[in-house]
Amino acid sequence: MSHSQPPRLPAVSDRMLRVGTESAFEVAARARALQAQGRSIIHLEIGEPDFDSPIAAREAAKAAIDAGLTHYAPYAGMPELRAAVRDDVALRKGVEASIDDVFITVGGKGVMVYAIMALIDPGDEVIIPDPAYPIYDSITRFVGGTVVPIPLRMADGFELDPDRVAAAITPRTKLLVLNSPANPTGGVLGRAATEKLAQLAVEHGLVVLSDEIYGRILYDGAEHVSIATFPGMAERTIILDGFAKTFAMTGWRLGYAVVPPWLSPHFGRLIINTISCAPTFVQVGAVEALRGPQDEVDGMVAEFTARRTLVIDGLNAIPGLRVAPPKGAFYAFPDVSGTGLSGPDFAERLLLEAGVCVLSGTAFGAAADNHIRISYATSRDNLDEALRRIGAFVAGL
Ligand code: PMP
Repeated sequence: MSHSQPPRLPAVSDRMLRVGTESAFEVAARARALQAQGRSIIHLEIGEPDFDSPIAAREAAKAAIDAGLTHYAPYAGMPELRAAVRDDVALRKGVEASIDDVFITVGGKGVMVYAIMALIDPGDEVIIPDPAYPIYDSITRFVGGTVVPIPLRMADGFELDPDRVAAAITPRTKLLVLNSPANPTGGVLGRAATEKLAQLAVEHGLVVLSDEIYGRILYDGAEHVSIATFPGMAERTIILDGFAKTFAMTGWRLGYAVVPPWLSPHFGRLIINTISCAPTFVQVGAVEALRGPQDEVDGMVAEFTARRTLVIDGLNAIPGLRVAPPKGAFYAFPDVSGTGLSGPDFAERLLLEAGVCVLSGTAFGAAADNHIRISYATSRDNLDEALRRIGAFVAGL
């Protein structure tokens, strides 16, 4: 397929030239094309739990379809789900919010798009960790904002350094993006760093977009601290969370935002302009995910814990790879430079020569060009075989 412009048709908007992508989806499509040609491929590229969605959620959503809940919902979300989110946020994050400031979106991704669109004008600066989930950067550029990346260091456990953030703040800085536990590094922001970042946000009048979508997937007693709990932060924090990771509900496409009251009308208006509302019967199912038994979530986290040990031990046993154990989420983010290959070259050759699909660290920012990201949201059998193939690939270099 050619991407060149056909004659006598208009060019796409300038902003389309600035928008980025989430390469996990594109890399996965490429790996599936190789598979269709008969190649054996192990998929470690997508951040998608392989478990079934909770049974209570599935049953409720099915019943909702049969009960005729197949029409529009209120734009901000169904009251039952907004109340369930408010209660869950109070219980697990210690954040007291009004139901009026809870919005149900299509995917947690929707929240980052709305947050950036609501706040950022051309020339405004957004501070974003590097590496980070690529869509913060992409949407910031799309709306004409300026991305100010803060490199994360493996030696710090990939924890964002508040001093580096302080040094990057200018009068144009409007938004600070945090993601803890983090994709792609598994880093977790500790209480002390979070408190310092909160103080900076208050002092400099910043809004914080706090992406907490992996907040329940933690290891070794790591604690999830929402920055919204610190003094002065409720009025300047947009919490992003959702159902995809915690409940293995990626395909339901449901997320939520908790926003400061002054931003609520703007979030509502952006939702009306884009999706009208999230799907109704999907929301009915999600109420049960939050209010129903939580043992399936606990089971998933226990299984992630076992896979994490398998992957970290397996990678560290391969000469040339160095990896820090993630404190949360379900990604390993090894430095591969000891093999003599860069992250992009390693990922490309690993796919073509060994049939293991991973992402290059460069999919998440310029600072991580020596890394690859491995998602261990797949079975232990797949992980065993992938580790065997990676070991053989590296031995053959
Ligand atoms: N934030 C982070 C850090 C993520 O990794 C992802 C998904 N990979 C999302 C948000 C978006 O999740 P959703 O599927 O709910 O849109």
